[in-house]
Amino acid sequence: MTEKTRQLVNIITGQTTSDGAGVKLKRVISPQHKNAFDPFLLLDEFGSDEPADYLGGFPSHPHRGFETVTYMLKGAMLHRDHLGNEGHLRAGDVQWMTAAHGIIHSEMPEQENGLLHGFQLWINLPANEKMKPPHYQDIAAVTIPQLDLANGGTIKIIAGEYSSIQGAVQGVSTQPLYLDVSLSPQQSLTVPIDAQHTAVVYVYQGELVIDNKVLQAGQLGQLINGNVISIVTQTQSAQFLLLAALPLNEPVVQSGPFVMNTVEEIEQAFRDYRNGVLTLL
Ligand code: MN
Repeated sequence: MTEKTRQLVNIITGQTTSDGAGVKLKRVISPQHKNAFDPFLLLDEFGSDEPADYLGGFPSHPHRGFETVTYMLKGAMLHRDHLGNEGHLRAGDVQWMTAAHGIIHSEMPEQENGLLHGFQLWINLPANEKMKPPHYQDIAAVTIPQLDLANGGTIKIIAGEYSSIQGAVQGVSTQPLYLDVSLSPQQSLTVPIDAQHTAVVYVYQGELVIDNKVLQAGQLGQLINGNVISIVTQTQSAQFLLLAALPLNEPVVQSGPFVMNTVEEIEQAFRDYRNGVLTLL
């Protein structure tokens, strides 16, 4: 198959905002992008050395119709749900939560040695999976395959496959690729990508170059038209997330914590939550 290198378009700079009980965060992909990154609905980067920026956390709240992927780089996140499940995500851990029919949970960030840094990604579910039972994949940091590159740098394969290495998370119907990549200065990386898949790169430290354009920390770029992604670094190192997945091409109606296909289904979700049956299967 001929190789075609993807172009960089739609550069977005994350916006500082707050959510939950006053948690300060950087919102990169948001509902205002109107599903331009289908199936990725939302991407938040949270991190602060100031406890006041996040101590309120995200108290009890519902979700229906999609998946949330929480990845901690530093610090911890205490998770509790309506079934009494409790989990403590620590540095490097991932929680892949398929909310589907309904989850009510709280997410409380905690510093470790004064540090907190992480990401939450929302991935849409196809219409025929939105009302299935919810489930979790809790991924401990040590079980995430890591590839050390020849001249420095590493790739953590959280989901999908890279260089014939299977990532920690499999079996998701949007076929997500979730890589956390660290490159040294003057390094290059190519990543094969399904030509049909949506692909984005989010730089969280340093800077890199794709398609002769610079992408800096706090910026996300979309990569279109091709089956390979080509990334280089110049004088700086770079740390970034590379995310790709199969677009659903279905109507999206999102209201707060619910993402469905129609207005009626959203109204049903609010009614179910009010009546205490959101999580009742
Ligand atoms: Mn949540």
